[in-house]
Amino acid sequence: MAENSTKVAVAEVERFLRGEEQLDDKDETRLETLTTTLEETNLSKYDPIKRIKDGFMHFKIHEFDKHPDYYNKLAEGQSPKFLVFACSDSRVCPSIILNFRPGEAFMCRNIANLVPEFNQVRYSGVGAVIEYAVTVLKVKFILVTGHSRCGGIERLMSLPDKDGKTFDFIDDWVKIGLPAKAKVKAEFGNLPQNEQNQICESEAVNLSLVNLLTYPYVRAGVADKTLELMGGHYDFINGTFTLWGLDLDFKPPLEFGAKHLLFA
Ligand SMILES: [Zn+2]
Repeated sequence: MAENSTKVAVAEVERFLRGEEQLDDKDETRLETLTTTLEETNLSKYDPIKRIKDGFMHFKIHEFDKHPDYYNKLAEGQSPKFLVFACSDSRVCPSIILNFRPGEAFMCRNIANLVPEFNQVRYSGVGAVIEYAVTVLKVKFILVTGHSRCGGIERLMSLPDKDGKTFDFIDDWVKIGLPAKAKVKAEFGNLPQNEQNQICESEAVNLSLVNLLTYPYVRAGVADKTLELMGGHYDFINGTFTLWGLDLDFKPPLEFGAKHLLFA
């Protein structure tokens, strides 16, 4: 974007804002265009290197340098209590929403936080994470957490796409959740689509918990009670987190962080 055209856009928007120009329909369209121009200009100023540098320096000053004993010990080795499956969605980072410090949680993030059944050919990436976490790190808990307005679950629920739109990887990946979708369709097929999607966000977590049991070391850990499986759901619309356990029959969900509990 030429600097000159940005200056012109700024001057024009300022004139509109000062009320020196009366707006008619044509002007409103022009104002929208000018605003878009300014937004694009701001975007072009975004400096990713500065963002990463500032981010790391914030962590180093406020966390790493403040706790040398903790980080010296961590440098010797990790012993996380949790393996966490969470969605790749940028709004649901478990380290932020559950306040995990480095060293506390081994992570696997993917579209729609899905755990596929044991399959050495198709899903070796996920299998390697589970195998390492359980057999080497000996985590005590596996948490699979879903979230509100999950695009991956939305895609699963809308397959096959009526407009014939396909993705190279996404559609095949979210099909791991087909049994959860079938359950939701059978039990709640009469509800509006967005409510079905919402239910499927938790049902897909339950399916992933069951799929975890197809990994022999997970099954063995659950059987001898050295490993516990948990399901969770983070609602970023209402700011709540729901946690439940895997039993032969599911425990009632435990509500955390409901608005009325957090704020008066
Ligand atoms: Zn998601």
